[in-house]
Amino acid sequence: MRYFDLALIPTALVRRALAVAFAGVVLALASCASTGDSPAKAVQQPKNIIIMFADGATSTQWDFGRYSSKVLRNQPFVTTDVVFKEGSLGLLSTHPSDAYVVDSAAAGSAMSTGFKVNNAAIAITRDGKSVPTAMEVAKAKGKRIGLVTTATVYDATPAAFSLHALSRRDSQGLVDQYLALEPDVLMGGGADYFLPAGTPGGKRKDGKDIIAAFRAKGYQVVRNSGELKAATGAKLLGLFTDGDMDFELDRDPANEPTTAEMAAAALRALSRDSPNGFVLLIENENTDTAGHANDAASLMHALWAFDDAVKVALEFQRRTPDTLVIITGDHETGGFSPTYALKDLSTLSSRNRFYSGDDHLRMLGRITTSLNAVNEKLGKKPSGAVLDGLIAQHFPGFRLDPDLREMILKQQTLERNFSYLTQNLLGRMVARQTGYYWGTSGHTPEPAVVGAIGPGAQLFRGYQDNTDFGKHLHRLIQGK
Ligand SMILES: [Zn+2]
Repeated sequence: MRYFDLALIPTALVRRALAVAFAGVVLALASCASTGDSPAKAVQQPKNIIIMFADGATSTQWDFGRYSSKVLRNQPFVTTDVVFKEGSLGLLSTHPSDAYVVDSAAAGSAMSTGFKVNNAAIAITRDGKSVPTAMEVAKAKGKRIGLVTTATVYDATPAAFSLHALSRRDSQGLVDQYLALEPDVLMGGGADYFLPAGTPGGKRKDGKDIIAAFRAKGYQVVRNSGELKAATGAKLLGLFTDGDMDFELDRDPANEPTTAEMAAAALRALSRDSPNGFVLLIENENTDTAGHANDAASLMHALWAFDDAVKVALEFQRRTPDTLVIITGDHETGGFSPTYALKDLSTLSSRNRFYSGDDHLRMLGRITTSLNAVNEKLGKKPSGAVLDGLIAQHFPGFRLDPDLREMILKQQTLERNFSYLTQNLLGRMVARQTGYYWGTSGHTPEPAVVGAIGPGAQLFRGYQDNTDFGKHLHRLIQGK
């Protein structure tokens, strides 16, 4: 049966995940029966809530993080090995109100508000109602609030957890709303929409300097890793890049902190003078961006960077046990399908087949660039010589087959659902030699995974909808 199960990997994965979730429901029912209590009465209230969010990551990605971390860095992956194993585990259906495949705005809105919205909308339902976000509710309860991301701070996920917009693309308007909301910690990329066009990196059309406006409200502003490390303010604005922050493989550590360093700084700032506790969202967006590019090596490093930040959150929880740590994502990105494949097209015989294993992981581990960085260097009219040089320099042991090379040089797409030409073709090069295939450059409807540990964690157990996540979050924030 193993052979046939493997032949149907996406279905098998979903089935396996459903089995895990079902086991969770059985456990939940068993615990209700043993106490004679309704689950509603049994819920403990956390003082602090840390939401660790890996955009675009579901069960295939989490498991990839687990085994690659074990093999290539000899380290446990605490997301799976601690939180999923010892905490409460659940699945979330993710569909928006207008489709079955969700974007980060609609998924984040459902998880923040408890309401379905259309794709691209930020916490505004399809009948035009602004519904309260998790961070607004937390603020109204006197809690301190923080948003940390490797994307721009006005990107879909942090925006959906705090603000409102008909379109996630209203970057300038979203930044204006942050200034009004005053999150105690706001950290990531996206300085461009804080600064006026005409100044270095600035894109604002109204001439305003929003960094100066935050400073005037008493914020400490930090712009690089050193300044973040030295930061002592209780209110922090950290803007490390004009746009998105870099992939781990491309990151300059002097300019851009790790997700773990941002998490540590955010927890330091938020835990000061917080009698009512705090709610903190920490997002790694590179897990999603790597999926869009079909970039398995960048995904792996992003998952490790995320997991290092989870370690920081769990260490904080160890010292402050009235803290709930939730790990989740919003949807799957890339139709990520580690599988077996033929070594070449000479014969379809199973003897010509390889199963992705440790040696293939080691090949991924030797890649020294993101596919997005290669794409930037090649531009829209790639040169064969530059392409061959980049492959030789950054992809030891890999060969670029003539068909893929020609498609890159002609800028042709693999299929209609692959819209990142160069990256997706290089992703296919990596897949042919490692078995790390991808089905799309977009999102898929595989259920999101949620793991929670600490007071209130049991609410997230079982198979639920992403709006249930939002409802539970509001209940825990409001202390009901
Ligand atoms: Zn995405």
